[in-house]
Amino acid sequence: MFRRLLYPLAFFTLFVSVLACSSNTEGNESSQEPEPSVQVNGDTDSADKTSPEPTATPEPEPTATPESEETPNCGEDEYEGWTGECCPTDGSNSNCGVSPCHKIGGSPDWEYDDNGECVEKESLPDPEPQQLSGIQDISACKLTIDSEEAISLAYERPTYRLDSTGPVETVVLFADFTDVSATQTTEEVFSIISPGAEDFFFDQSYGRLTLNLYPHHEWLHLSGQAANYSEAIKTYYGHRDFIQEAMDLADASVDFTGIDSVLVVSTPNATQVGYGPTMIGFGGTEGSLIADGMFITNGVTSGADLTYWGDLWYPHEMGHSLGLPDLYGASIPGRAGFTRPFSLMDDIGSSAPGYMGYSRWILKWLDDTQIACINGTTTVSLTPLAIPEGLKLALIPFSQTHALAVESRRQIGYDSDLAREGAVVYLVNTENGVGGSYGEGPMEVLNDAQALLPGESLTYENVTVTFEETSTEADIIQIQINE
Ligand SMILES: [Zn+2]
Repeated sequence: MFRRLLYPLAFFTLFVSVLACSSNTEGNESSQEPEPSVQVNGDTDSADKTSPEPTATPEPEPTATPESEETPNCGEDEYEGWTGECCPTDGSNSNCGVSPCHKIGGSPDWEYDDNGECVEKESLPDPEPQQLSGIQDISACKLTIDSEEAISLAYERPTYRLDSTGPVETVVLFADFTDVSATQTTEEVFSIISPGAEDFFFDQSYGRLTLNLYPHHEWLHLSGQAANYSEAIKTYYGHRDFIQEAMDLADASVDFTGIDSVLVVSTPNATQVGYGPTMIGFGGTEGSLIADGMFITNGVTSGADLTYWGDLWYPHEMGHSLGLPDLYGASIPGRAGFTRPFSLMDDIGSSAPGYMGYSRWILKWLDDTQIACINGTTTVSLTPLAIPEGLKLALIPFSQTHALAVESRRQIGYDSDLAREGAVVYLVNTENGVGGSYGEGPMEVLNDAQALLPGESLTYENVTVTFEETSTEADIIQIQINE
């Protein structure tokens, strides 16, 4: 739970992840060719020889049929319909030869123009026109931070943190001490962490991050007593040297090439090492772990509390390696947690121990198109955060560093034990420190840390959030901007 910070001395060039951009595929629909039908040949059932031709039949052309070879000669009681056929004038066949603009039997894709001509409609309306009002460009919601920190809730993630999409390659080492020898096998201890940690990231990232753990199943015997390492983890360099010593011991048999992060698991019976922090490196010789020519800026050690927290401990610590701050306030009386029970970065043991929707967005696990960036009164339909599809988050920015967020939390997946489903309304403030003992908390759930229920509303500054109604698919939330 504890984490260590070392602030880079300079601003680093923020990188722009190409994966961040919205993958709006809707605009390409018209260019997609129809699926060719699969030709089954040979020995399969021949029954479907009588099937109609499975070609992509174009729709009948509803244009005025040219005077072709078979111009009908309609009788006195008939007229020539739109499609060239003869239809009874007494109306006994109202669908005969109707134009696509006809009220009955016509096509919704056609309409009369200003001249009374029946023409095809130009384009489909926007699929969600009701959301255009009050929605602004997503860039207004991409919060910044005045001076870049080693971890933060700014949209652009801190330099040297782990890539948040794709594979994250992590070596796992096992260490004991001169005065405390391991009593379990490395396999037994590893099973506390894996596969729970891998499953967590696959679920929370909607499949976008794959955690690959490479355990080196050997107890590495460190050169000092457990208490020495308990002290060492309290400083950045002490902690780095702890991890580096384990890496050096393993280096002859472990290839660190291409490795993103190193986890050193202390034997859990070393109670002197009470907890395990995250090493937040900053690059270069001083700010890295080094092996096989690799400069590795993210590392974690475990302590005796591993057996208490179980497989959700590493997802909390790796959250820091991804750039996420703590969301608890150890040093603030009466404010133990800012977001519990809704975030693992607050309380590993909570009833809904995942990452908040905002955090998932800045980790590029949600697309920009799944965020409504709001600047006027509007109504949004939020789908549960635990499922991949749909609009996930309403964000109302007050400034470039401060916003209100709303998301839907249901008893699904890691939220299954949630006592109260509903709309979680919370503040994000990148200038409010990084949790733990630092600052007032960069994220805080409003409404006394309770989810808003249908029919309830709350007001923060000039924003009133009303939970209008809920369905199996989504929660309908009205955001009112008060002048
Ligand atoms: Zn932490």
